[in-house]
Amino acid sequence: MELPQYKPVEPAAEIERFRQCHGAAIQETREMLEKARAGQNGDAEGILDAQLTLLMDEYAVVEPIEEAIVQEGLNLFQAAGQVFEEIAETFRQADDEYMSQRAADVEDICGRFLSRGLGLGRQDYSSLPQGTVLAARSLTPSDTIGMDLEHVAAIITEYGGYCSHVGIITRNHGIPSVSGLEGIVSLLQAGEEVLVDGDEGAVTAGLGESEREAFYILQRQREARERALDRFRTAESRAADGEAGLICANIGSEAEAAGAAAAGADGIGLLRSEFLYMGYDQLPDEESQFRAYRRALEDMAGRPVTIRTLDIGGDKELPALPMEREENPFLGCRAIRLCLSHPDLFHTQLRALLRASVYGRLQILFPMISCLEELRQAKGLLLQVREELEQEGIPTAPVQVGMMVEVPSAALLAGHFAQEVDFFSIGTNDLIQYALACERGSAKVEHLYSPYHPAVLRLIALAAEGAREAGIECGMCGEAAADPRLLPLFWGMGVREFSMTPAAVTRARAVLSGVDTAACRELARRALDCGDVENVIKLLEV
Ligand code: PEP
Ligand code: MG
Repeated sequence: MELPQYKPVEPAAEIERFRQCHGAAIQETREMLEKARAGQNGDAEGILDAQLTLLMDEYAVVEPIEEAIVQEGLNLFQAAGQVFEEIAETFRQADDEYMSQRAADVEDICGRFLSRGLGLGRQDYSSLPQGTVLAARSLTPSDTIGMDLEHVAAIITEYGGYCSHVGIITRNHGIPSVSGLEGIVSLLQAGEEVLVDGDEGAVTAGLGESEREAFYILQRQREARERALDRFRTAESRAADGEAGLICANIGSEAEAAGAAAAGADGIGLLRSEFLYMGYDQLPDEESQFRAYRRALEDMAGRPVTIRTLDIGGDKELPALPMEREENPFLGCRAIRLCLSHPDLFHTQLRALLRASVYGRLQILFPMISCLEELRQAKGLLLQVREELEQEGIPTAPVQVGMMVEVPSAALLAGHFAQEVDFFSIGTNDLIQYALACERGSAKVEHLYSPYHPAVLRLIALAAEGAREAGIECGMCGEAAADPRLLPLFWGMGVREFSMTPAAVTRARAVLSGVDTAACRELARRALDCGDVENVIKLLEV
């Protein structure tokens, strides 16, 4: 969890805020305890009782946190994080099972305290008034599950960046969002009218008539530009010289497939299957997954549908699958790693996918592959599942099997990986964060997180080259695929499929129709000579 880094100006006021958050956390734990008692859940009751005692412990918890605020100048979140971590570490040192459970309890209390204080995960967003502008300190992908997105006009957050999963989800629903505006929540009044310009990253409150008018003019101009692009909805995806490609859509659920087809997508380049799992207390069974995959395939009527296997971990959690807390979850047991360590979970998904394969053109995509061993293991399980289904007499169809290139090691060894898959899909969102050591959802390092960085471009070029030499397809499904400035460059490197939010499909196809492949190759050659972001941008502006 990203903690606010602000320095409190007035320690006494910070202590007061701490006491409010502390009181709220106690209240929440008490309510949970009462529920556990009412449900006669003895185990939970014992744990919550112990947690409550610790949370209220003046000597071990309250005083040290207040001291850290006053003496070390920490804000309440940093102070609480530090004190709880020290207590948890003491339990961990004891190296026995009972004590390590106590450490987990402390982590749990800490998580609840921080979430409560940061306003995370507590709100119910399932029914909102029309035109709601949601302003929150931070949102998690799970908060958007069950959110009444139809009625959300815009989202503003203090933490989180453009490529955070929340940003991606809201863009996929055509909702403007602005993130990284630290302090904005306390500046806005509930019920106040605000204008949110997602393209410019601007939020305006305290509106006068002229501002309102200027904003609506701008909005009408944008809508006119969108309408002008409409002829590209049904056009072929080709460069000006006739070279063919695909402009596909990224979706988060089977229900979005029909909309993607209507928006003109040549296929689904990425169905993030984890969203089918989020927001439920139980893992989806084989049958419900099968129905979801089948529907996506049927709605795309013979067009390719790339379904990525579960990519959970990092900033995405599953209520139904408790995960051990990790210091660096983006570098931990995420995506394919998690699936390989939970073979039953993976097995169920692979069965559902292969059963659905007969209903369309399925491509299975493995996320976050970092070494050949992982890829081989995943493919081995897929083969095993296919044989199992054959023995049961359940029909399956041939599927293309691909991997995300989103870890630098995969790009660097692209030539080897390309021998063992049918296609690559470059995931720039993660590739950038792993190549540049910049967390994708962090507003603090957003200025360093750039798809224009020459090191990122080189990795992409390596992936495309590895694919070309092996004769396999190379696509891209990260947010950079929708960037009209970058498309000619990636086209010149050999990327032939671009997958993006459905709303961006016509614009990308229009851009592609105007480029010449030979000129794009030259552009790529020159960009790969650049040493800094600024020069890459200058080159793309010419
Ligand atoms: C990526 O990393 O670029 C990608 C498409 O996957 P996700 O954003 O779901 O991690
Ligand atoms: Mg990714």
